[in-house]
Amino acid sequence: MAKGKDEDAIHQAAEMIALAVRGRKPLVVLTGAGISAESGVPTFRGPEGLWQGFRPEELATPAAFARDPERVWQWYHWRRQRVAAAEPNAGHRALVALEAVLDDAFTLLTQNVDGLHRRAGSQRVVELHGNLYRARCTRCQGSAAIPDTAEGLVFCPDCGSLSRPDVVWFGERLPEQAWRRAVDAVENASVMLVVGTSGVVQPAAGLVELAAARGVSIVEVNPQRSALTDLARCFIGEKAGVALPRLLARAGLDPASG
Ligand code: NAD
Ligand code: ZN
Repeated sequence: MAKGKDEDAIHQAAEMIALAVRGRKPLVVLTGAGISAESGVPTFRGPEGLWQGFRPEELATPAAFARDPERVWQWYHWRRQRVAAAEPNAGHRALVALEAVLDDAFTLLTQNVDGLHRRAGSQRVVELHGNLYRARCTRCQGSAAIPDTAEGLVFCPDCGSLSRPDVVWFGERLPEQAWRRAVDAVENASVMLVVGTSGVVQPAAGLVELAAARGVSIVEVNPQRSALTDLARCFIGEKAGVALPRLLARAGLDPASG
């Protein structure tokens, strides 16, 4: 039963994508932690979301960092190790192939901080929540790459003050420029592909609400229904690494051509 419904959704979504490709109409993608799950990077709300008994909501906040910066940094070092051991998967690669045919009509907005989209080869990537590999000084605000050898606290290479992970924490604003690019891409899009996000983290989830309000055709890929599913024209209830290559193949594109 479910398979039949997915087949219909894939067929309908593939037509939307084929139309966008043929007319070079702007297509925007929003990804969340789910697209990296098949690479072995845990999502926040999945079964592996806990670290040493702490929930991400207890670590990814300015208050947690003020209380115990070392613990927060240790969690980020652990996350970087997980990501370093991971490889991009077929879902990441399908988005590279889509970019290859759409060119500048393609924008990839990601809530992920793991850098796997770029490692797969995506170029038009907007990182809404920053990047695991960068640190930002708490005093001079300078941003710098984190040394490979870092384990505990990280300090600013310029002024020596304590640095923090250069990521967006719960309750923080998104980087202005990234947010502007995201809104711009959504407002101009004809199709939006939403992949592997629970849709509960704002303001990123608001981009899907904005798309719906603008009449953008929304396709969602997620093995489970999310807070955004009711906004989607097509819901494909499968894993990204399975659904995205199938979707591209059905749209007449080579999912491995990126
Ligand atoms: P989330 O953990 O809240 O939700 C993950 C979603 O992915 C769920 O809806 C789940 O059903 C879905 N999912 C699980 N496996 C999937 C698969 N194989 N294919 C497609 N979907 C799948 O993640 P979120 O919505 O991105 O929000 C959490 C916040 O956590 C974000 O701000 C993000 O920055 C951060 N985060 C990032 C990473 C990363 O960079 N890889 C990992 C964990 C959390
Ligand atoms: Zn500094």
